[in-house]
Amino acid sequence: CGIVGYIGKRDVAPLLLEGLQRLEYRGYDSAGIVITSPKAAGLKMVKAKGRVRDLEARVPKRFTGTTGIAHTRWATHGAPSDINSHPHLDPENKVAVVHNGIVDNAQELRAKLEADGVVFASETDTEVITHLIARSQATSLEEKVREALKVIEGTYGIAVMHADFNDRIVVARNGSPVVLGIGEKEMFVASDVAALIAHTRQVVTLDDGEMATLKADDFRTYTTSGATTTATPETVEWEA
Ligand code: GLU
Repeated sequence: CGIVGYIGKRDVAPLLLEGLQRLEYRGYDSAGIVITSPKAAGLKMVKAKGRVRDLEARVPKRFTGTTGIAHTRWATHGAPSDINSHPHLDPENKVAVVHNGIVDNAQELRAKLEADGVVFASETDTEVITHLIARSQATSLEEKVREALKVIEGTYGIAVMHADFNDRIVVARNGSPVVLGIGEKEMFVASDVAALIAHTRQVVTLDDGEMATLKADDFRTYTTSGATTTATPETVEWEA
């Protein structure tokens, strides 16, 4: 339902929780957040069925980082629950995915993965994306995500983090909005400009079939087949 992400120098958790609150008007049944930092060993995640304030109440005191993605979920596959909330991580806690939309061939992909020995944690369609990325043999995160999306049918706006590639967030869009917010040595991503307007007015709206890599001081966009696309930030006028 709602996505917000950040990479930069600021303390990321409060920033993302505030972003989620700005998306609350869309309705949702659960929320979650995953963070890291250049120095951190691995990903830290908290998620909860219920309101953003229920999530906030679960966030530990020392939950610091400078890169993160967060989500509000409107359940389509699997009941609202702590476990079905996004982000969805692989068993090694390397890959984290938040997803808006519906994977149409999730059942089929899940059956294939399970036949291969993959154990699913949740009932969501989204979790197949996580496992596909985690199992990709490609050497870059961009390529891993591209390989996963090749077999996915349906709609998605996704944001992906990987513990071994923690200098970046990779995002992709097909039928579910993804907007980049371009800051000064910091980058934002959201499913709705409302979540980032407090921080920057320079935005890039992804097209269907388009992906982006966000780093703290740089971003680039390309198609799901890897061809570079041009993205010129536009200034949004918007009364908060
Ligand atoms: N289909 C996904 C799920 O049920 C994402 C739903 C959403 O867009 O929030 O978990």
